Amino acid sequence: MKFCSACGKPVNQRIPEGDTRLRYVCDHCQTIHYQNPNIVAGVLPTWGGQVLLCRRAIEPRLGYWTLPAGFMENGETLEQAARRETVEEACARVSEMTLYQLFDLPHINQVHVFFRAELADLDFAVGAESLEVRLFDESEIPWDELAFRTITRTLECYYRDRIEQHYPIGNECLSPMPVSSSNN
Ligand SMILES: [Zn+2]
Repeated sequence: MKFCSACGKPVNQRIPEGDTRLRYVCDHCQTIHYQNPNIVAGVLPTWGGQVLLCRRAIEPRLGYWTLPAGFMENGETLEQAARRETVEEACARVSEMTLYQLFDLPHINQVHVFFRAELADLDFAVGAESLEVRLFDESEIPWDELAFRTITRTLECYYRDRIEQHYPIGNECLSPMPVSSSNN
């Protein structure tokens, strides 16, 4: 941040009185610009044993496969955000949404949350942000062409949990350096 969004004057970085963190502070209008993590909400849409993936038509990771997911908007619930992204990216409607995986990504100031859900029907289609949308059997999942680590981990957890048909809520903190994709 270079300029104050309230008055347009340059901002400075310092720790405000009574605070413990470095903030962007406007010494002209005294506004303290707090910056907080962004939340990404997504869905793991299933149809029987198949999973719906979308190939991204936009950067970052254009051409790679993802689960429908995106930044939450103000005024939405988490579930509404996840549903909206599923409509936007895959023109798909889902039912029986269940909270499933939470990822803390402190190095990029994001939290990613995925629901499990069953597709309401097979009337999905390629959304504006996708190049391709299709169902995958477990043996077809393009593991080397997945867009983000949280997508890989969510799918790994799903296929692990599916064996027992027990899907506990998972919470992981992903480190900045890529880690090998294991189930540990
Ligand atoms: Zn200002």
